[in-house]
Amino acid sequence: MPEAYFNLPEEIRFCRLCVMSNQRPCSIPEFTHTRERKGARYLQIDDDNVCDACKHNMQKGGVIDWKKREEELWELLEKHRSKDGSHDCICPGSGGKDSAYAAHVLKYKYRMNPLTVTWPPILYTTYGHENFMNWIKVGGFDNISFNQNGKVQRTLTRLSIRNMLHPFQTFILGQKNLAPQIAARWGIPLVFFGENEAEYGNPIADNESSMRSNSYYAMNDPSEIYLAGVSLKELEEQHGLTRGDLAPYLPTDPKLLENSGVQVRYLGYYNKWTPQESYYYAVEHTGFKARPFRTQGTYSKYSGIDDKIDDLHFYTTHIKYGLGRASYDAAMEIRNNHLTREEGVALVKRFDGEFPDRYFDDVMQYLEMSREEFFMLSDEFRSPHLWEKRQGEWKLRKAVYSEDALAD
Ligand SMILES: [Zn+2]
Repeated sequence: MPEAYFNLPEEIRFCRLCVMSNQRPCSIPEFTHTRERKGARYLQIDDDNVCDACKHNMQKGGVIDWKKREEELWELLEKHRSKDGSHDCICPGSGGKDSAYAAHVLKYKYRMNPLTVTWPPILYTTYGHENFMNWIKVGGFDNISFNQNGKVQRTLTRLSIRNMLHPFQTFILGQKNLAPQIAARWGIPLVFFGENEAEYGNPIADNESSMRSNSYYAMNDPSEIYLAGVSLKELEEQHGLTRGDLAPYLPTDPKLLENSGVQVRYLGYYNKWTPQESYYYAVEHTGFKARPFRTQGTYSKYSGIDDKIDDLHFYTTHIKYGLGRASYDAAMEIRNNHLTREEGVALVKRFDGEFPDRYFDDVMQYLEMSREEFFMLSDEFRSPHLWEKRQGEWKLRKAVYSEDALAD
């Protein structure tokens, strides 16, 4: 059997209900991520050939008592709502449809007073920036944006591509760390993220609580922390970065969080979350606009459109795990009954892994990286169990549209 990199399951299996495979990574705390992905877990597909994300989705439709969950939410909010309209919760986001929806329902349906907090994209698209401004101006929210030191972010982003083919790491780190940190410092202990990652394939147990495990944003032992796949010591000694430069990317001290009573929760635990509905809601209430063109690598126009580097991110997931953005989008829409599996498979075949040339040169220019270097790196990260070269071209050995996709 050809070798599997990154601790991936050697045998590639697909879910018979959606289009996901067992090569889809579960979330890991980003600051423990290294090239080898030691101990990383991947989407569970049981002997019935159904993935955990589809199983969770079935629960969402049936077992979960949404009315009761909403009562729990009201109860929680009653405890925290401020009397004078001062900020009583934090909504992180950059103005995409989901954060727009979350902040808006918290304010206008549940009568809370959210402070929105933004870790801006690495390279804003004009559409993303316009949606962000509309979220704040049209939706009516106060906002704190943390504008990162560009030199440090560039260095870390370039290193995370070189070490892990992971262009999006600095964004993921900041997006997870910033809100808890601001919550602790500003004394606003309730933080609401929108969806739980478990919706899309973490172990189902992760979704049985409204609290986000603090393993994603808290850590006190710097010797166990890796950024861009290397230790803090190496970043300081070999890349000229100081601990202060790295601070915005580092998890928060658990003691600080505990002393300030910060609770990080998912609104998606209390409210049934459907991305397409968040989209319609955001269009109506916060002036959100889809991009007028299809996102490369998929068929959709309205999700993950803020950051020029996002398209490249999904191109790299296709290289590392055989799953591009169309796979992620189609799996979700099949579960929400907006696509049949057959349609999903056809969309994956057509769009997955499409090269994102629209913003590619902008991204390379920003990174001060040559196209050639990026392509060379890409090939280094193709796991032999996923890829083979046929007539000089890289092909997936087994894809969801292969004839033997569901054969055991
Ligand atoms: Zn599935």
